[in-house]
Amino acid sequence: MIDCHVHAVPPNLPGTGALAPLLRQPAEVVAAELRREMQTSGATAAFAMGAWDSGPDDPLGVNATLRVADQVPGLKVIGVADPTRTGDDHFRRVDELLAAGTVVALKGYLGYLHYEPAHPNYRRYYELAARHKIPVMFHTGDTYSPRAKLRFAHPLGVDEVAVDHPDCRFVLCHVGNPWTTDAAEVIYKNMNVWADLSGLLVGTDEVFASEDGREAAAEVGHAVARAIRYSERPNRFVYGTDWPLAPMAAYRDFVRDAVPPEYHDMVFEENARVLFRV
Ligand SMILES: [Zn+2]
Repeated sequence: MIDCHVHAVPPNLPGTGALAPLLRQPAEVVAAELRREMQTSGATAAFAMGAWDSGPDDPLGVNATLRVADQVPGLKVIGVADPTRTGDDHFRRVDELLAAGTVVALKGYLGYLHYEPAHPNYRRYYELAARHKIPVMFHTGDTYSPRAKLRFAHPLGVDEVAVDHPDCRFVLCHVGNPWTTDAAEVIYKNMNVWADLSGLLVGTDEVFASEDGREAAAEVGHAVARAIRYSERPNRFVYGTDWPLAPMAAYRDFVRDAVPPEYHDMVFEENARVLFRV
């Protein structure tokens, strides 16, 4: 099982805080917890996000995440595609990091940063991602920050760039929730658009087990099943949790219930192997 979307450090985006107190702890503490969660849930690999605005010596914002990854077998790192960085020197260094295989994907923070996917500042990231054969993931849907602007985070914005950059693969994180049907349409129409199932429910084990939690799980689980059916592409959905926003084992059970059993092997592992080439 591959968990394509976890956090090992605070994302450092405007208005998000640390996401969870654990992420403020030293790398060893986060790593120990992550190893335990992966083992308990059966995840053999996980991909962890970087941090935005990490300074000139860290063009993809991955240095802190790499320190955690050093201590967690199977943990790989996703770099930040930062549209506020535009210099030739920046992109030369990004190119070098991608050539070295430092990251398995790039991630853009739609909504949190007020840039749409078609903004020219993202273009060179798409070109580099296509050249190095890694996907560009985008936060889509509801944001965790009052400073975010939702119109930038709608999945329809990704249709624009999916058409203009057919050699680049794009991932709609969170299936654009609550715009899951809009996300499904973008996946249906574009061969190069995928979705991750992370972050659709957040909370503790107690929340997941509560009556409200189970009701919310049934509701959003129905939306996931509908998105897979509507898109007619079950081979485009990958598993992710958004840990530590949700416990890994409880989230796995939620996705197992939501996704039709005939697609479990694809969604929990095979699709991610194709998308991330791992
Ligand atoms: Zn996330």
